[in-house]
Parts: sequence; structure tokens; C-alpha cells
Amino acid sequence: MAENSRITGFRNMSVTDRRAALTDATGCGAELFAQVDASAFDAEAAADLSENVFGVFSLPLGAATNFTINGTDVLVPMATEEASVIAAASNAARMARPQGGFSTSSTRPLMQAQIQLINIADPHAARTRILERQSEIIDLANAVDPKLVEVGGGVTDLEVRLVEARSTTYVLVHLLVDVRDAMGANAVNTMAEAVSSAVAAIAEGDALLRILTNKADRRLARARAVFDKELLGGEEVVDNILHAYELAAADPYRAATHNKGIMNGVSAVVLATGNDTRAVEAGAHSHAVVDGRYSSLSRFEKNAAGDLVGTLEMPMPVGLVGGATKVHPAARADLRIAEVTTAQDLGEIIVAVGLAQNLAALRVLATEGVQRGHMSLHAKNLAASVGASAEEAEIIVDRLIEEKAFRFDRAESLLAELRSGGAR
Ligand code: NAD
Repeated sequence: MAENSRITGFRNMSVTDRRAALTDATGCGAELFAQVDASAFDAEAAADLSENVFGVFSLPLGAATNFTINGTDVLVPMATEEASVIAAASNAARMARPQGGFSTSSTRPLMQAQIQLINIADPHAARTRILERQSEIIDLANAVDPKLVEVGGGVTDLEVRLVEARSTTYVLVHLLVDVRDAMGANAVNTMAEAVSSAVAAIAEGDALLRILTNKADRRLARARAVFDKELLGGEEVVDNILHAYELAAADPYRAATHNKGIMNGVSAVVLATGNDTRAVEAGAHSHAVVDGRYSSLSRFEKNAAGDLVGTLEMPMPVGLVGGATKVHPAARADLRIAEVTTAQDLGEIIVAVGLAQNLAALRVLATEGVQRGHMSLHAKNLAASVGASAEEAEIIVDRLIEEKAFRFDRAESLLAELRSGGAR
């Protein structure tokens, strides 16, 4: 547990001072930071994770401050190339602190594998034949992953669905697997492959696809927070945030952007911990369809005291073992900074960050609009992208803000002026 996630002035510190502050706050030794240096994960190490590797792609890694989750302070590592994301999450977490921060919970870590059965003459009867022999199939699946069973996981249930497709009715067998601290894709895929011929024989057909579903709707994490109305800016701001939320709940065009805001926070923590961003994103967006319509993943209400209450529930297939999580040095270091010891805890932190990120975006949209904050950071990007040195960038950023001219061509011309001895 971080002693205190509210580190004053963290935003304006040098990288060295930030490391010292994180060391003080978390008790992690200073040597931990060697693991988040680019040199800790070189192309040779990276070559074990992917193919045709010729280098390593780096991203900024920051820590979101101010988070209290279930009464414990946490500093949350986030990897993102997008300006404002970490600052916004930290700011929203600050607004939740007076009311106790975030409360979280989650389901068991259940992932599902699907086995598609084809060429079945009697789908309804095949379904019941499979269910009659479910314990035998479950034992067969568990036998291929004794390690998972040993750590308390394994198949918990089997379900059979009939899916009417254009040309036929498919029988789909779902293995529900408690994957404990794994993301679980490989684990459940292996099980599905191991039982597929037996299942096909019982169904009197053939097995085709054998793979997990990324609609991980049995593995949900939830977060709830009360955001102080005064810190938000008063009653009118609360009401306008509710209008912004209601639009996202009602309109898919708005909902897509609203949910993208949630994923700004979610994907940054998923990535920082070496997890599979695409799996979490696929789970999130499939979960955002309510009654056949794409909608907001989060909910906002006003409580009796007039404060804003936000809740977010979403699939959270993340792990601490498997994939890059154990191999990537920065991912290991990030788990230590966040002091995470179970996949469920990690999932709950991620959803709390998603909720904070969402609130921060809604508040800005419902008040000053996104451009003001974004653009000063965008100005820094522009200065860097035209090749300005740190010294030149300072001057160019000030000028771009002053002129409200956040354009590449203006950054270029300012740089040219500076270098020719002009612009001040
Ligand atoms: P994995 O197979 O490497 O690790 C899981 C295994 O670790 C378990 O099967 C178990 O045998 C062992 N284990 C040891 N200690 C454990 C513990 N405490 N809890 C749980 N298991 C423990 O990895 P995985 O998590 O099954 O798969 C994750 C990888 O699969 C990711 O890299 C992901 O990108 C990839 N993947 C994703 C998809 C998809 O999302 N559609 C498809 C295929 C692969």
C-alpha cells in the first residue's frame, strides 16, 4: 500500500525527483527504476515475445496520484502516448478523496472457451447429450492444466448454446474456467482443444473453432466513487455532467467517445502491466451493448446530498502470469509500484482508473471544453515534432498558446524565426 498517493507537486518534479517520491511513497527500493529504463528491455529480450523483431518501441510511463481504493492509497502506473490522460485521472481521483475514494469489487476470474460444433443432425438432442456428460468433459479439461487446478482454478461449469446462423444451427459448448491470476486465453484455448474431439463425438458431429470468447462477461470488475460537488465546481457542473452522461447513455455516437475516454485510463494501466489491451478493449466494447444498442459503460447519478456518484462495471481479463506480464521488466516493476498481488486486485484498480478518467473527461466537456487543457500539451508535441530543442520548445509553446495557433506550420515558422535570430 502506498503510504500516501497524494504527492504534492509530483507533476512539476524532475524524473529523478519523481522516482525518489515514488520510492518514499511505496517503499520500493530505488533499484526498481532500472527496470523501467528503456535499456531494461532490449531487442534481444523483446524477440522472445514477438516475431521479426528489430527493435523496441517505448512509451511514456507515469504514475497516477491521489487514488484511494477500498481505503488504501495506490499509485497507479500508466503507459500512454496521449497528453492529459494521467493528469486527468489524478485530478478526478483527488475529487473522489473527500468521500473516501473508490470502492471496488469483482466476480470470480471466469473466462470462457467456445467449441463450435458443426454437422449436427439433432442440435437440441446433442445439447442434452453433452450436458449429461458434463462432469466427464470437465475432468478431461482440468487434466490438461494441473498447475491451474493446483492454484485453485480450473473448469467450474459447462454450458451449451444453440446459435441460429444463416445456413445451419451451431452447437456451441462453453467451458467456464476460473483462471485465477492468469489472463487465461492460452489456458482456456488449450482446454477447448483438449476436449473438442470427445465433445464432437458425444454430439455426433465435428468440432471446428476452439477458442476463448473475448466477451468476458463472467469476469467483471466494478468501481464506485462519489465525486464532491464543490470540487467539481458546484451544482450546475454536476447537472451538466449528468446531461453529458445521459447523452452517452442514449446516443451511440456520443457513447463511442465516452467509452474511449474510459479506455484512455483502462488501456494505459493494462499496457503498463504487460497485459493484452486488445482483449480488454474487445471485452469492454462488447459489454457496452445494452438491449442491442451500443451505450455508455459507466453510470452517473446525483446522490441525496447533491454529489455525483459514478459507477463502472466492465469485463476485466487481466493477469499477473502469462503473456508479457512476467517477462517484461517494466510490467513487473509496475505491479510492485501498484503493490498488486492478485489479478482481481489489478482488475479493480484498472476499473477505478477508468471511472476516474471518464469523470475527468465529462467534467472538462461539461465546463470549459477539451481544447484548452489539451492544446497547451498539444503545443509541446508540436514543438517537439518540428525538432525544437528544449530551450526553443519553451519559447515556441508560449507563443503558440499566446496566439492560440496550435498548428504544425506555425510551430515550424516560429522555429525558423528563432533560428534566424528573430521570434521572441
Ligand atoms: P499462459 O498460458 O502463459 O499462463 C497461464 C498458465 O499459467 C495457466 O494455465 C497455469 O498453468 C499457469 N499458472 C501458474 N500460476 C498461476 C496462477 N497463479 N494463476 C493462474 N495460472 C497460473 O497465459 P494465459 O493467461 O493463459 O494467456 C494470456 C496470453 O494469451 C496473452 O499474452 C494474450 O495476449 C494471449 N492470447 C489472447 C487471445 C485473445 O484474447 N483472443 C488469444 C490467444 C492468446
